[in-house]
Amino acid sequence: MSQSVRYNKTKIIATMGPATSDIDMIKKIIIAGVDVCRINFSHGDWDTHLDIVKKIRQVNEELGTHVAILGDLQGPKLRIGEVEGNKMLLEKGKIMKLTTKATVSKDNIIYVKYSTLARDVKVGERVLLDDGKLELEFVNRIDSETVEAKVINGGYLSSNKGFNLPSSSLSVDSLTTKDKKDLEFIMKHDFDWVALSFVREADDIHRLRKILQEHQCEARIIAKIEKPQAVHNIDEIIKATNAIMVARGDLGVEMPMEEVPMIQKRIVSKCIQASKPVIIATQMMESMIESPTPTRAEANDVANAVMDGADAVMLSAETSVGKYALKAVEAVEKILGSTEEGWDIYNKIKKPNPSSPSFLSERICYATVSMSEGIKAKAILSMTQTGYTAYKIASGRPNCDVFIFTANKKLLTRLSLVWNVRAYYYDSKTNTDDTIKEVISILQKDNLLKLGDVVINTAAMPVSENRKTNALKISVVE
Ligand code: PEP
Repeated sequence: MSQSVRYNKTKIIATMGPATSDIDMIKKIIIAGVDVCRINFSHGDWDTHLDIVKKIRQVNEELGTHVAILGDLQGPKLRIGEVEGNKMLLEKGKIMKLTTKATVSKDNIIYVKYSTLARDVKVGERVLLDDGKLELEFVNRIDSETVEAKVINGGYLSSNKGFNLPSSSLSVDSLTTKDKKDLEFIMKHDFDWVALSFVREADDIHRLRKILQEHQCEARIIAKIEKPQAVHNIDEIIKATNAIMVARGDLGVEMPMEEVPMIQKRIVSKCIQASKPVIIATQMMESMIESPTPTRAEANDVANAVMDGADAVMLSAETSVGKYALKAVEAVEKILGSTEEGWDIYNKIKKPNPSSPSFLSERICYATVSMSEGIKAKAILSMTQTGYTAYKIASGRPNCDVFIFTANKKLLTRLSLVWNVRAYYYDSKTNTDDTIKEVISILQKDNLLKLGDVVINTAAMPVSENRKTNALKISVVE
């Protein structure tokens, strides 16, 4: 792994776009600390996405990095259609007709592109337009295609704006036809992670997993939490998914904004308990889309995500279309480093449950993390084939470095999302003593360990049998 690359325990996700499509720029943001590149399927076309994917992989080759690629499916984002003249005023108190019958929005008609709207909404429920800037309340159902709604918060509406139905029970599938096509692209090009938008329940994850399995695709699933139903079903969703994204953009529209900070903290804590990576997303450095420095509040927001214990923070428009993409990454990187050093975010390990089927390996991970503090270990060095040990060790939030050695090439990039984990390819089937010597010497060569450092190794013995983690050894680097 290249030493010039910046690195923190909390990972950085950058959304790719026109501002980060050039290979030199991709190299710069990776050197500045980006661990995961997000391709947002709400924008752009496949040719552009493929071009970026190839460049990320080329930069990984050149720098010896393992930056992961995350495909974010658009999901059932609800939108209105054309607005005549691209501008109409919704006056407070006025009754509007929301309909799928029209071809354009004008006067008191809003043309919506959601065929089951009239079936899914009830009188008294709200519709929020344009990220919540405008609010209407349903007052009457006219027929199967048209409902009436009263304007509560008025303002101007323009074409193709998104709308949210926070309290309605939607019949739309969480995987749209477009998502299924994009998923084919994601599977074909072997993405590491796939994010599912507008998840409502665990079954949404199960349906996506079934498709991935049918195609022998090993991409892991990130459930985006952006609906009240998902917050309500969070325990089942965490159980079903591989990782969580607190998608605060839509979440802050669908739920009272003042509740989002607490929801963020609760979800992070639950994910750490469940050893599932958790990402904090949206508006982290929003002002840097236009400005070379963040606001003090944004710096605080990034620091707070670190203090909460998030695995990763995500930049959206800041890196995809922002004027200061590289500066945004550099600013986040500095805040991560400073907060990790100045705040106690460590040792969150919980005692494993004896009834767990992997109790003994969990107990080793538990012992490793708790011991790493007591013996002032410089690093934990773990062997894994499935990644299980990496997720477990990381969720204990050890203060020392965590290096994962694996012969499973897919893990090298996938684990880049996981808090504090750096993965190395290692494929020797020699005995455990030699393995320990070899992995230490790999890290010494990269100047990540020096003489006298204390390290803890975990392994599955005998090495040749690919068992679950069953061994822990303390060594001093000689
Ligand atoms: C969000 O809503 O916060 C989010 C990350 O989703 P998207 O950017 O896909 O709208």
